[in-house]
Amino acid sequence: MGINKITLDRLKQRLDDPSIKIAIIPHISADGDAAGACSALWQLLDRLGKEAKVLTCDYFPDYLKWLERIPDAISFQNRPGDCKRWLRDSNLLCMIDHNTFAREGDLEPLARHFRGEVLMIDHHPDPINVDYRFSDPRVSSTCEILYELIARIWGKKIIDKNIANALYTGIVTDTGGFSHNSSRPRTYRVVAELLARGLDKERVHDCLYQRNSPWRLRLEGHCLLNKMTIEEHYPLAIIPVSLQELETFHFKDGDLEGVVNIPLTIDGVLVSVQVTERKERVKFSFRSKGEIPVNDWARRFFNGGGHRNAAGGQLDLPLEECLKILRESAAWFFDQRVDKNLPRPDARAGLQSRE
Ligand code: 5GP
Ligand code: MN
Repeated sequence: MGINKITLDRLKQRLDDPSIKIAIIPHISADGDAAGACSALWQLLDRLGKEAKVLTCDYFPDYLKWLERIPDAISFQNRPGDCKRWLRDSNLLCMIDHNTFAREGDLEPLARHFRGEVLMIDHHPDPINVDYRFSDPRVSSTCEILYELIARIWGKKIIDKNIANALYTGIVTDTGGFSHNSSRPRTYRVVAELLARGLDKERVHDCLYQRNSPWRLRLEGHCLLNKMTIEEHYPLAIIPVSLQELETFHFKDGDLEGVVNIPLTIDGVLVSVQVTERKERVKFSFRSKGEIPVNDWARRFFNGGGHRNAAGGQLDLPLEECLKILRESAAWFFDQRVDKNLPRPDARAGLQSRE
């Protein structure tokens, strides 16, 4: 990972300043990478005796609450005054796992008007310019970049078991268990280092993947059995989920995590989209295989963005209309945007033989 030495030295100096007061902000609907990086950074700053707090525009989902310090984060939804005060009094804002203030929900206007300096640790394409930017879309996760920063600034010996667990959480979740965005040898060297620093891999896996509720599994089964469709003309699977269904299955944040990846395991399916009706708006999750840039699709039609193979977006329209837009824009995406040389619709041959 190319860490700019000049930026790194400036940051080191800034962090040495005894008057430093830090606000750490993950993206809206924090995932394992955002939460892992917030947890690791907060623990580290605690150990160094620095004043720091994690502020969220919404909430960390329950399945990530076991991460050290994460339950202490201040949510703008129930403590807006505390969030505002901390931001007003801070002089360094850390943007974690996102590339623009637009991903900070209701904290966006406050972050935009932040008077101190801004540090970004992220791996999404096209990041905005900030005072200290450590961003590289080739890297598996924000947690992997944070590991490199920690090792370069303080040395890897400062990493203890809980920090290692948090950093590993981001690496393992953002790569779908080392299935995508994880072909750089360095990623595995970082994991090896984390193991040497005490990473408890069994515990992390147990916390992340073996604490499902029965309702989560029932919802997943319902999505695959009753909701998933495969388009006739494109190698595309769609899973629509209505608010009513979420209620029926006693939905809790995180319950649909990973479901959108499952259709990609079908021979011939190259893109999977989950469309979930939430109270505020309809949320889109896109996943793809290989070179197919679903972030382009999310950006152009769904007010979103993300990585080439994992992107998201949202529309403030009824679910049925959202699905119509999705199907109509699939024509643009597959016919115009997906490289004609890629293995594509003909891959449906594999599907048809099983239908
Ligand atoms: P997920 O489908 O898990 O919600 O998101 C997948 C990826 O897309 C994540 O890396 C996330 O950062 C990005 N993403 C999700 N929603 C949005 C969005 O509304 N805007 C942008 N720019 N990126 C998003
Ligand atoms: Mn990430």
